[in-house]
Amino acid sequence: MDRYNSSIRDILNASFFSTFYYRTREGKIRPTWRFWRWMSVILINIAFFLSYHIDIQLLEGTMSGSRLLGFHLIDLFTALETWAATHTIHTNMIIGSVTIAVFYLLVGGKSFCAWACPYGILSEIGEYWHQKLVRKKIIKERSWDPRIRFAFWAVFLVVTFIDGFLVFEVINPIGILSRFIVYGWSLAIVWVLVILLFEIFYSRRMWCKYICPVGTTYNLLGWVSATKVQWDMEKCDHCGACLDACFENHVLEFIKPKHDKERKEKGITKQIVVNGDCTLCARCFDVCHTDAYNYTFRLKDLV
Ligand code: SF4
Ligand code: SF4
Repeated sequence: MDRYNSSIRDILNASFFSTFYYRTREGKIRPTWRFWRWMSVILINIAFFLSYHIDIQLLEGTMSGSRLLGFHLIDLFTALETWAATHTIHTNMIIGSVTIAVFYLLVGGKSFCAWACPYGILSEIGEYWHQKLVRKKIIKERSWDPRIRFAFWAVFLVVTFIDGFLVFEVINPIGILSRFIVYGWSLAIVWVLVILLFEIFYSRRMWCKYICPVGTTYNLLGWVSATKVQWDMEKCDHCGACLDACFENHVLEFIKPKHDKERKEKGITKQIVVNGDCTLCARCFDVCHTDAYNYTFRLKDLV
């Protein structure tokens, strides 16, 4: 209700950078969730950069494997790949992966994609241009069943198991970008630009939605994670803006009006986004003019 962007038309016409703030009814400017999300990604990656360049030893390494104040952290898919390639599990890998798993089980599985991944920011800019081109009918939208990501996930691990080589790391844009931010230029950055061009001109968020096994691993945690997005049917007027804003909008299938009758029969008014593909990015919060979304912590009754 306080949002400046009160219709889909407003949202579509908004310039990219105007989506970092909104105006309240009183005319005050407030940061959107997108602003806080980008701040999170930028600060995490600045911490990597400064830890290497001025040796502040806050967050050393890259997104694939790091040390936070000396404490080991490892990306879960990198840990799985390393295990598949070497057939051994080192103590530091166990410490690092269990810590990461517990953290994302609490804050939301795929929140990594929205709140930490450096490629997510680039991909979001690409998505903006992609949608502009689709609306102008210069390109057409192409989409597939997002469950294809599980096939890619399995293939990368099986090939690594057979070959003993971390195949995915050669093409992993998260690792490439993270190393680029920390250590500087390498030719591999061209590959990241190729993926981005595919996302702009071929299919919306193609890498994130259909291929990335890093996000797929966090998807597996996301189904059971404690922090979830909650939707309130009584506030929703089914304008559809959230379905347009969410690039994983199959996770919002349940909000469609055709399910209202069943909800009313069961006396349900609030529902959580169960699907592990939800990145907890809060783009649906930002575009919803009735404030029908909020975060909920499923373990709140235990604490
Ligand atoms: S939740 Fe909000 S943005 Fe989504 S359809 Fe309902 S009113 Fe529109
Ligand atoms: S449902 Fe909302 S929070 Fe989840 S991915 Fe879609 S826009 Fe982001």
